[in-house]
Amino acid sequence: MILVVGGAGYIGSHLVKDLAANREVLVLDNLSTGHLVSLDYKADFVEGDLRDATLLDNLFSKYPIEAVMHFAAASLVGESVSHPLKYYENNVVATFNLLKAMLKHDVKNFIFSSTAATYGLPDIEHIDETVATAPINPYGQSKLMIEQMLADFGNAYGLQYIALRYFNAAGAHETGEIGESHTPETHLIPIILQHLVGVREKVSVFGTDYATPDGTCVRDYIHVTDIAKAHIIALDALLSGKVKNEIYNLGNGQGYSVKEVITACEMVTGLKARVEESERRAGDPGRLVAASKKIETELGWKAEQNLMQIIESAWKWHKNQRY
Ligand code: UDP
Repeated sequence: MILVVGGAGYIGSHLVKDLAANREVLVLDNLSTGHLVSLDYKADFVEGDLRDATLLDNLFSKYPIEAVMHFAAASLVGESVSHPLKYYENNVVATFNLLKAMLKHDVKNFIFSSTAATYGLPDIEHIDETVATAPINPYGQSKLMIEQMLADFGNAYGLQYIALRYFNAAGAHETGEIGESHTPETHLIPIILQHLVGVREKVSVFGTDYATPDGTCVRDYIHVTDIAKAHIIALDALLSGKVKNEIYNLGNGQGYSVKEVITACEMVTGLKARVEESERRAGDPGRLVAASKKIETELGWKAEQNLMQIIESAWKWHKNQRY
């Protein structure tokens, strides 16, 4: 059985939907941001929080868990700057509790959701895993601290892990049943699409003076289904002993500016956005684009869906939401 922590959240629910087709899955989620409705398939569900050591103890005693996939985290760059306590508690302390319970119960396999925010402001076109980490916001810092715990626990206690550093997750499941929905929503693609379905007045572009071709931030958008596939490949590689204690980037290798993403959304939907230029958002690097060669070479994973496909799937989902 695979324990998926945060399996009711955006990325976790996409993974669970695919993983549960072939494996027994148990989801632990505190439903702080996740949605039970996204778990309408064959996975067991426990509502609970990683701050509850007794709950974790009971869970690992009761279920035959062979690996843990950990998606539960606070993940908003801007919020992490204004509310770092939340990030060190929800991310670092909570993951520490989870790892401690795992080690106590001799569960040694761990797949971790990390982030490109660990890199900070690398002045490099395509970031690979050898680039030095230097996060510029507490979100990235909290994820890097967890990666450091993983390395130390790997050395000392035989923990076996793979950390996947996602670039910008976006898109929705091909069935249109689940998609990206945060409250409040802060992510670019859902914000644009919510505006285009008419539940938001306009789209604000955060900063037009970055050192990028059109002055707006450049990101590498990766389909949530591609991310889910990478997790399944990583899990199989870990459980079969093919690799352990590795960090892999997950990206498309293509950078798109905020303005380009808005244009792409207009093309997919056939609708025109009302766009307003505004101040930079705290903690945002100008450019983050991945080199994902390492996971391609070692595990055979490659992003399959491009920005237009990401937006098409997200649009299919957003159109059917009742806001
Ligand atoms: N962004 C923007 N307007 C918005 C939301 C986001 O201009 O309403 C920008 C944001 O500053 C960043 C990019 O879009 O440069 C992607 O932001 P998002 O929050 O989607 O992901 P992040 O890169 O923070 O993980």
